[in-house]
Amino acid sequence: MTKEKELTVQDLPGVGPTTAEKLAAAGIDTLLAVAVSSIGVLTEEAGVSDSVARKMIQAARDMMEMGFETADTILDKRAEVIKIKTGSEGFDEVMGGGFETGAITECYGEFGSGKTQVGHQLAVNVQIPKDQGGNESKVIYIDTENTFRPERILQMAEKAGLDPDTVLKNIKIARAYNSDHQMLLAEKSEELLKTGEYKLLIVDSLTAHFRAEFIGRGTLSERQQKLNKHMHTLLKLADMYNCCVLVTNQVMSKPNVMFGDPTQAIGGHVVGHSSTFRIYLRKGKKGSRVAKLVDSPNLPENECMFFVNTSGLNDKEE
Ligand code: ATP
Ligand code: MG
Repeated sequence: MTKEKELTVQDLPGVGPTTAEKLAAAGIDTLLAVAVSSIGVLTEEAGVSDSVARKMIQAARDMMEMGFETADTILDKRAEVIKIKTGSEGFDEVMGGGFETGAITECYGEFGSGKTQVGHQLAVNVQIPKDQGGNESKVIYIDTENTFRPERILQMAEKAGLDPDTVLKNIKIARAYNSDHQMLLAEKSEELLKTGEYKLLIVDSLTAHFRAEFIGRGTLSERQQKLNKHMHTLLKLADMYNCCVLVTNQVMSKPNVMFGDPTQAIGGHVVGHSSTFRIYLRKGKKGSRVAKLVDSPNLPENECMFFVNTSGLNDKEE
């Protein structure tokens, strides 16, 4: 990966200054960005032919020695993973230490189960100084339901002993008005991620617009295709910029389930398979919340109880 600094996009076959400019305008301004791009995107953004696009991607991959990585580089990558604490030790433990960077975590559950609260809490905790166990990072928050509350951030910031003004300034919020806008905002967040200052990207809610816009059986495959593309963008960002991507998702009831839990997450496998961690949130006894980790690659299925207090997430009720 050290070669990336010496070579630029202009060193690729078929890329002159004009093409490089068009690519840069589309945010594709590094070899890595070309290497992980697709033929369709390059032809569309740079106006090159399919075969030129294919050669560009191949050359970028060769120059970066992509493809197979040795296990020790994967281990190095794993060492770069940051874990963002939730405020509840039980919840952190379920997550193997906290919410991981380099991955997508999906929180799904019914309304009021605490999905948005988890998002707000991580947006504060990721800002805690490193010597206090935090990550000193900024946050990108894509809000699709207009449920971001700065007042709530202030309550949590106070508990964490952080300067309230700075905490608010460190959270970049974008309101997404429909699913296309949401997808565009996800792509645009790459500009911020490139600065290296942002380690947390929240999409709350991932599925609400998709669910509202694509109604009826006939539109299902189109919806899933778009959602798939969106998840792919998020996955790429998580991986390229070692960023924690948190997406929230509602549940719908499964009409034919007689036993077990009659709810399932929206978006089905498209969302489920792209997420590295999936957490099912539900209301528990005496005002508590239950977080259950499902389908995780390296952690056992596990659950814990936590509380959403005025000061934020905690193991105990205030
Ligand atoms: P939806 O699907 O509607 O988006 P959600 O899963 O995002 O729901 P949240 O908004 O995260 O749900 O949870 C709302 C709950 O969080 C409230 O019902 C309340 O119990 C708790 N809560 C929110 N704000 C506070 C606060 N300031 N102090 C204490 N508890 C709070
Ligand atoms: Mg919510």
